[in-house]
Amino acid sequence: MSNQAAKVIVIGGGNAALCAALAAREGGADVALLERAPEAEAGGNSRFAAGAMRVVYGGIDELRALMPDLTDDEVANTDFGSYPQERFFDDMGRVTDYRCDADLVELLVGHSMPALMWLRGHGVRFAPMYGRQAFKVDGRFRFWGGLTVETVGGGPGLVAALTDAARRQGVDIRYGARAVALVHDDTRVTGVRVRQAGRVETLAADATVVACGGFEANPAWRARYLGPGWDLAKVRGTRFNTGDGHRMALDIGAASCGHWSGCHAVAWDRNAPEFGDLAVGDGFQKHSYPFGVMLNAAGARFVDEGADFRNYTYAKYGAVILAQPGQFAWQVFDAKVAHLLRDEYRIRQVTKVEADTLEGLVAKLDGVDGRRALETLRAFNAAVPDDPAFDPTVKDGRATRGLAVPKSNWANAIDTPPFEAFAVTCGVTFTFGGLRIDADARVLDEDLAAIPGLYAAGEIVGGLFWGNYPGGAGLTSGTVFGRIAGAAAAGGDGA
Ligand SMILES: Cc1cc2nc3c(=O)[nH]c(=O)nc-3n(C[C@H](O)[C@H](O)[C@H](O)COP(=O)(O)OP(=O)(O)OC[C@H]3O[C@@H](n4cnc5c(N)ncnc54)[C@H](O)[C@@H]3O)c2cc1C
Repeated sequence: MSNQAAKVIVIGGGNAALCAALAAREGGADVALLERAPEAEAGGNSRFAAGAMRVVYGGIDELRALMPDLTDDEVANTDFGSYPQERFFDDMGRVTDYRCDADLVELLVGHSMPALMWLRGHGVRFAPMYGRQAFKVDGRFRFWGGLTVETVGGGPGLVAALTDAARRQGVDIRYGARAVALVHDDTRVTGVRVRQAGRVETLAADATVVACGGFEANPAWRARYLGPGWDLAKVRGTRFNTGDGHRMALDIGAASCGHWSGCHAVAWDRNAPEFGDLAVGDGFQKHSYPFGVMLNAAGARFVDEGADFRNYTYAKYGAVILAQPGQFAWQVFDAKVAHLLRDEYRIRQVTKVEADTLEGLVAKLDGVDGRRALETLRAFNAAVPDDPAFDPTVKDGRATRGLAVPKSNWANAIDTPPFEAFAVTCGVTFTFGGLRIDADARVLDEDLAAIPGLYAAGEIVGGLFWGNYPGGAGLTSGTVFGRIAGAAAAGGDGA
């Protein structure tokens, strides 16, 4: 494709960008996709993802349409429940303290199932998340937390399927191509300046979609916008999301929007590398804390590990860990819950200690006041009630009594050896602050008028997530808004 022929340029190479590129092709546009990463590292955070996608469904019939490979046995042995629109709405409102933009949420929720069916049409396959979102109760699997579906092959499977589809549809994918500026003639965006193989050139476009992620991989911006200490966090995913899209759009007058001092951040192995490692994927995360306790350097608990289902708290607890002395914590479990620990606790690259007594365990917790830690564990054990019974598939109300830092559900005494502890720090996933868009994914300027020729999708969109995030909403958002942006970019003059 020559400079002049480019009609739609998509900046980014993850889920949102690939969906935008495919939708723009379906709309009849010539599409070039600029991916900053070399091909070996392409795919953004989408490629690091587990592939969980939050989607509305009424019951088994809709799940079967999405996952025709479901067997009769699976259906008979599983309580999939349902996830109606109202619950997705409620979840978005509740976890964001009702700050989320209602219009964007309506699009996210209402388009979620059609978007996943569309992905299916492009070769993405789905499966139930038995491993991570279901527990067996009385011989049947029961799903919990509103999250039921994952892409086959996880994030890598999703990116591979979308890349194949984009190639089949004739999208011109350019790797190692970093967009450095939007070309703006005071009325509209007319193209993109791109650096590739050491050369900078200008590509003309009728419309441009920015889908190039957040600024989580930029330590200076993290410190500037998220606040002091955030430069010390580890990055869970790609090293290429440094806020280029934000900068390019703000430079031509786009409006900022959403929670610029907020981000998605989780418990992440204390010794994980600075950026994500594609060979490990999301394996450095440590998400089973609702079944144990977390201790900081002072040997104290500091957060309600059982405040809610894991997928409604994990995205905000990274920040809580970052705020602890030394920015670390130890997650402590006993043998009673060992079988509930997620697969990521068994990876080779794990920071773990074990002991047969609590005294022995606290002595091994690097950087922790062991005497205080022992007191904390004993006080915790004494505060655990006899009833109600422990049930990991519901918020069981099994809450500690009389502790300054309560544990509101799933409180079990840590009394059965062997004991295990895992060291975690804060791993940042993606930033919440971004650009302001309208219902056609057009980027708005500071007067809240659409900037002709400019669209946005994915992490770079501001206004959806504030302070917290319901698990599986990121990929769904990328697909929903990627489709909208691509279709609109192909269809109109962007005005
Ligand atoms: C470890 C991990 C696990 C996760 N698990 C899940 C999950 O199970 N479910 C879920 O919903 N979400 C999950 N997420 C979050 C999810 O990955 C993101 O919300 C989603 O992938 C964002 O998609 P995106 O396309 O906006 O950004 P990305 O996938 O990050 O893509 C951004 C792209 O832009 C490119 N880029 C950056 N700058 C430029 C530039 N100047 N020019 C050209 N290209 C550029 C990057 O190279 C990258 O390819 C996870 C994230 C991580 C890190």
